[in-house]
Amino acid sequence: MKMRPQSRTLTRSWSLRLRILVYLGCLLAGVGLVGYTITNYLVDRNVAAFEEREAQTRMDRAVLGVTQSISGMDVVVYDNATWNDTFAHLQDFNAEYLSTNYTAAALRNLKVEQVIFLTPQAQLHSGVELVGDAVQVLHANAVLVQAVQRAVMDVPLPAPMRGQHLLRWVNGRAVAMAFAAVRRSDAGPQTAGWMVLVRDLDRSAQELEQVIGNELVFAPDRHTQANQRVQPLPDSLGESGISLKITVEPALKDQSTRVGYLLLLNSTAMSLIAILLVGLLLDGLVLRRLSLFAALARTDKSNPVGDENVPLTRWPVLGTDELDVLAVSLNAMVMERSLTENQLKSEARTDVLTGLGNRRHLLESMERIFAQARRGQAMDLTVFLLDLDGFKHINDSLGHEAGDAMLVWIGHQIAHAIRDSDLAVRLGGDEFAVFSFMPQGRQDVEVFAERILRVVSRPHTYHGQILVSSASLGVVVADPSQPAEVALRNADIAMYAAKNLGKNRYTVFTDAMHSDVQERMQLEQHLRQAIKERAFDVWFQPIVDIRSGKTAMVEALARLKIHGKYCPPNRFIPLAEDAGLIAAIGQELAEKAVEALSRLHKVQPGLIVNINLSAHQLMDPALPDFLHATLQKNAVSVEHVHLELTETAVARDGERLFAMLVQLKDAGYHLHLDDFGTGQSSLNRVQELPFGSLKLDKSFVDLLLKDVDTIPRLMISLAQELDMQVIAEGVESLEQVGMLKEMGYFLIQGYVFAKPMPEDVLLQWLQEQKNRG
Ligand code: C2E
Ligand code: CA
Ligand code: CA
Repeated sequence: MKMRPQSRTLTRSWSLRLRILVYLGCLLAGVGLVGYTITNYLVDRNVAAFEEREAQTRMDRAVLGVTQSISGMDVVVYDNATWNDTFAHLQDFNAEYLSTNYTAAALRNLKVEQVIFLTPQAQLHSGVELVGDAVQVLHANAVLVQAVQRAVMDVPLPAPMRGQHLLRWVNGRAVAMAFAAVRRSDAGPQTAGWMVLVRDLDRSAQELEQVIGNELVFAPDRHTQANQRVQPLPDSLGESGISLKITVEPALKDQSTRVGYLLLLNSTAMSLIAILLVGLLLDGLVLRRLSLFAALARTDKSNPVGDENVPLTRWPVLGTDELDVLAVSLNAMVMERSLTENQLKSEARTDVLTGLGNRRHLLESMERIFAQARRGQAMDLTVFLLDLDGFKHINDSLGHEAGDAMLVWIGHQIAHAIRDSDLAVRLGGDEFAVFSFMPQGRQDVEVFAERILRVVSRPHTYHGQILVSSASLGVVVADPSQPAEVALRNADIAMYAAKNLGKNRYTVFTDAMHSDVQERMQLEQHLRQAIKERAFDVWFQPIVDIRSGKTAMVEALARLKIHGKYCPPNRFIPLAEDAGLIAAIGQELAEKAVEALSRLHKVQPGLIVNINLSAHQLMDPALPDFLHATLQKNAVSVEHVHLELTETAVARDGERLFAMLVQLKDAGYHLHLDDFGTGQSSLNRVQELPFGSLKLDKSFVDLLLKDVDTIPRLMISLAQELDMQVIAEGVESLEQVGMLKEMGYFLIQGYVFAKPMPEDVLLQWLQEQKNRG
């Protein structure tokens, strides 16, 4: 199973706190254990050394007691052996000597069991033995006697002048035999034999045990048990084969275990107390706060950036210690970060020039409100997209600073005209948008759109100059189930529709517009294809001089067949202009028209062809060279080619356009001002430009039938004053012809005489005209 990342970091940070506490606990417990072990070891060693010393002392005492007691026998036996009575007894057996000197009481007093006399050859001479309270005579065949004989025979001669002793095992009992050579008291060298005192050591030990305070055991071996000590007992001949064993119970055994337990208890308790205290202290002062810091850092990190609904994380500051310093700087950092984030966020959503929101701000807000609408709030969501009319003109003529000032001013106007809940943004360039969301049925789109158009067309001054602008407004009632981008695109389409309808107006988006846009896109495709294939046809419409009845000129008009049907130039020419394709089309048309003219001249020499030029073509510096080359190629003279420029094409001023017109005029071309009266060019301007003819637009010709003739009359007087030709176009009836003729119009173009026609039809038409005479 996958762990949630948050709980994982939680465990991790907890484990640091826990880890430190556990490590600390282990460390302190370890220190306690080591301390305990060392102390215990030292105590044990001292106790052991003490016990060892104690045991050795006891052993020494026991050995000393035993050897002293036996040494006493040596003195006694020597005393008795150098007694004259004893010497005499050995010389001559004396029963009375034995019975008076070695009574039971005497033997008991001497702590011996037997007194034995041997001849110099170690044969039994005589002996007595204490059996219970009686003294009995010893027999030669007694085991003990034989043992004594063997022992005495081991003794090197001559015997020393003192008593000696041997320790022997007899019948499994440890026996001490003290002996001395029997001599006269004057200590002459002659010996009469040996006197031996025999003591059963085991029996005599009981008395010693009470003095020494230890049980004494005589043993042939030197094996010991845990609490036993052993020491070999020497006799006068050296090693005796008898060892003394004592059992020593350790004096401090109980105390030592108790001390051990106490030590353990003490160490454990101290360690636990240390762990508890240090742990509590460290945890309270540092670790718990660190954990809290980490937890806060985590919440801060998981908080969505710049979310106004989530309060800023704050680390608690308790005092002035290091953690507090850390907390203070963390708080400062979070505050600073949130400030920069908010700043960045608002900068990224603000239009620097106007201070309004930008496209991003608009899209974000729209998406947010759309989401609310999708959740069921019934709302009218309206987007107003506004594009200034002729802003480029202001930029070009007054400079970018003026343009910027204009945008700022428009921004202000819009911002003041909208409701608080509405959002106004600048999308870029001279495009603004207002997003309005209102409870359903409360939005009056028309009123609002008109208000916006009104405020942006208020005149304002810039450096003493009065500027007036207008805008085209596209309105869309947005569908919240679609992305905000779609609503914006539709508003854009509606705005273009408003522009096409003549600007300074608003259009509400309809689905039909969308298909218009698609149609336009398809048409553009066709145009590009047609340019590649040079598929444009040139048709001609005659312009008749009514004074002679002859065709004075023909106007070359573009035709394009799409899917077998001719598409009207009013549809594809504006599109070609928008898409930047008009220059290519114009070139093709000019080439084809001039080419045709060389053929037309065969029927009617001197015929003039009028070629339409768009504004784009006038901006191309290569235009004069191109025209010149085309004329030369077809051997057509320049006076037979006139150029028609629409009033809107020359409405835009500028040095370049003026220079181009002059250049064309100087090259010999006759220039017609087409659609006269429909544009905004002032009469002053018309006077400045080098036109040779003015073409009265069809709309004024139409008005003649309603008795409106101001413009046609104005135009005539202007032309006479400036010495220009006049042409009336779109003339459909003889009635109009009559009225025009009366005013002074003699060059007439219109269905009344002929519609535009292809070259072959025109050739025929000219031929027929000629034939009629
Ligand atoms: P325009 O230059 O004003 O051309 C005259 C238009 O008026 C032609 O429409 C012509 O057929 C039409 N017309 C002439 N007499 C009458 C009449 O008695 N009644 C009516 N109802 N219409 C009449 P067309 O050929 O459809 O051309 C429309 C426009 O397309 C032209 O207006 C011109 O602005 C543009 N255009 C056509 N060919 C070219 C071209 O080769 N280059 C450029 N730049 N524009 C062209
Ligand atoms: Ca024309
Ligand atoms: Ca025209």
